[in-house]
Amino acid sequence: MESTYAMVQVFYQRGPAPAHNGIWYTHRDMRQHRFLRFLIIAFAAGAFIGLVGGLAFGGSKNPGSSTPTTQARSSNSGSATSSTAPTASSGPMTVERARTIGANEMGEVPVLMYHLFGPQAATYTRTPQDFRSDIALLKSEGFYPITVRDLASGNIDIPAGKSPVVLTFDDSSMGQYKILDDGTLDPDSAVGIMRQAVKAGGWADRATFFPLLDVDVAERVLWGQPDKAKEKLKNLIQWGYEVGSHTVTHLDLKKASVQEAAKQLQQSQATLEDMIGSGYKLTSLSVPYGDYPANDSLIASGQYQGKSYAYSAAVEVAGGPSVSPFSGKFRPLHITRITATGNALKNAIDNFKKHPLLRYISDGDPTTVSAPKTLPAELGTVSSDLGRPVIRY
Ligand SMILES: [Zn+2]
Repeated sequence: MESTYAMVQVFYQRGPAPAHNGIWYTHRDMRQHRFLRFLIIAFAAGAFIGLVGGLAFGGSKNPGSSTPTTQARSSNSGSATSSTAPTASSGPMTVERARTIGANEMGEVPVLMYHLFGPQAATYTRTPQDFRSDIALLKSEGFYPITVRDLASGNIDIPAGKSPVVLTFDDSSMGQYKILDDGTLDPDSAVGIMRQAVKAGGWADRATFFPLLDVDVAERVLWGQPDKAKEKLKNLIQWGYEVGSHTVTHLDLKKASVQEAAKQLQQSQATLEDMIGSGYKLTSLSVPYGDYPANDSLIASGQYQGKSYAYSAAVEVAGGPSVSPFSGKFRPLHITRITATGNALKNAIDNFKKHPLLRYISDGDPTTVSAPKTLPAELGTVSSDLGRPVIRY
């Protein structure tokens, strides 16, 4: 599917990656990075002290086993004022509460794939209006965003009763993230639309971006505004989004030599981590064209010229909703996606309505896995090595 896209849009035809990877940063930049990193760490330390102080003051309201995550979650869900609501903040997860919530953490999770944004809708182009409608539909149908990393690691920290959804953005075109001449965020770019949705409530700054670093079309190199590339990467991470790799040049990992594949898997990861700074670790990969190398181990980890890389999650370009990360069927290097085009999202949601047991519904507690005792066979069985309590009802 994505290969058709690339054939139509010829600019992905490109030879071996140029050797000037260093264009992305200079030594002077790296020194600035260190200073910036210090500032960020200092700020984070201050924020942490504030958080601890806040919890200490708020602790008398809710004695016992409350943690920062449950506090944050209960305030997000808007039900913190009710002590009887079946939320995770009111104690350990029980069979009764899981049943009341209707939790099904063995259900499927839609992972939506977006590429271009523009005035004319096409298979790989979403209009800003359609994208607004997508988020409005997801909100009204009880979905809540997480990242690919959250999905792959099973860290699905969303309000009880909500269903996770992952929005993914491949190829870093400018329509995804544009900064206007006056320095403000373009309200019609995908990031602008998502941030408005967060402000309006019931949504969070969570999605995963898979940018390109070196392709012939400048408009798709790190969102097409070279002097703002670093600022965009840092903003995304600061707001709560995830940045992953899509290789350096949109490399076909199936056709490439093992050496070239390892080179781009390592360099894309290292370059983005350096640009983002503050110790950020890239862990997710979007496999260009969905063309996997002969052996998944090449993606999982490797080395290029003595420098190592590793990925713990990788996304495909098709395949429908993802199975739950708690299912024995889940393969973190083969997370399936849905192309967000036409009515694809609405159809996926309609299918959940027809088959409610296929849908993931959170119990509100990221440390437990709750699910009905009887589930459709296609969801698989609960993975045996989750290392967390499993609640069946
Ligand atoms: Zn791509």
